[in-house]
Amino acid sequence: MPAPFLDHIRATLDEIRADGLFKHERQITSAQGARVEMEGRRVINLCANNYLGLADHPALVDAATRAMQDHGFGLASVRFICGTQDLHRQLETRLAQYLGTEDSILFAACFDANGALFEPLLGPQDAVISDALNHASIIDGIRLSKARRFRFANSDMDDLEAQLQAARQGGARHVMIATDGVFSMDGYLAKLPEIRALADRYDALVMVDDCHATGFMGPQGRGTPAHFGVRADILTGTLGKALGGALGGYVAGPQPVVDLLRQRARPYLFSNALPPAITAAGLAALDLVEAADDLRAALFDNAAHWRAGLADAGFTLLPGDHPIIPVMTHDAHRAQAMAARLFDLGVHVASFFYPVVPKGQARIRTQMNARLTRDDLDEALAAFTRAGRETGVLP
Ligand SMILES: *Cc1c(COP(=O)(O)O)cnc(C)c1O
Repeated sequence: MPAPFLDHIRATLDEIRADGLFKHERQITSAQGARVEMEGRRVINLCANNYLGLADHPALVDAATRAMQDHGFGLASVRFICGTQDLHRQLETRLAQYLGTEDSILFAACFDANGALFEPLLGPQDAVISDALNHASIIDGIRLSKARRFRFANSDMDDLEAQLQAARQGGARHVMIATDGVFSMDGYLAKLPEIRALADRYDALVMVDDCHATGFMGPQGRGTPAHFGVRADILTGTLGKALGGALGGYVAGPQPVVDLLRQRARPYLFSNALPPAITAAGLAALDLVEAADDLRAALFDNAAHWRAGLADAGFTLLPGDHPIIPVMTHDAHRAQAMAARLFDLGVHVASFFYPVVPKGQARIRTQMNARLTRDDLDEALAAFTRAGRETGVLP
């Protein structure tokens, strides 16, 4: 390999380190859970997307194990050549039924679902209007389409309306509004009732990526549209968060949309079929989740208890009820120092700072889980209070 190339790569890595943005990965030596084994210790885990605590659930592990015995390990094919199993169609039908859409189509991940969605559905005569805080995969998916691109400031409905007007004045044939159902850095919900009303006024479609909601927001956990009682035209989501935590994504929507994606979506056509263990466990997860009012109640009880405890201790939080609860440190170094101190005290958290969040808005993003106990939370709160004082986040 030519030396100048590797020198260039090393210089980029050095820059990342010098900016304090280098990400280190700590190893977990147990299953994912409310407590995990890391570096020889059991620590409380407040940074997984394991909202309902299903990532090590025996029913999912059993379903996956049985499916490997009946259906093998992998498909060694894309879906359309010889990779579609009965389990794939069962899961697609089951997801559609759960989400209240006509059909759905599976992808290797929601990153692929979002990467796949826009290019086949929208042409150069069309427009897509995207929230500025949308997930990276939506941004990339939109880049891959030939549609005209418009962007509105996060949840700013006046700006959304201005962009809808601009798209219509530009003569767009079809207009699609794309939004996360929940913005993951803040735990804020998209304003779906207002978005729906504006979409209807300007004859636009609404696409919602509900990764941080499906399984626990709204009745039976059907997501943010169900939470608000509004209709989304197209939904995308993941099996990698509340629905078991393994891997896999989907697009759910009207039959012709799903049918066209099956013909044209490149990440579907040119990437391997989901393995049987994951599809079967996805089916088991949906059965569990649909009936899991107890887990959803525990999740939101934990969120209320954790939020109240942090507020009483004097931390600055972002408002809301979602189980994503960001603790603001504002300063990036404080966020990192506090996360490191918390790990010493037996609590695993992630700190986020520029460029992931705006400058001066560094934070520790905590996430609740239905299986955390009151003892876990009270122990974590004591650690937060101590680490907060030691690092100057608390006075
Ligand atoms: C996590 C996430 C994704 C990616 O999902 P994967 O299935 O892990 O690829 C996409 N969009 C949003 C909003 C997410 O939070």
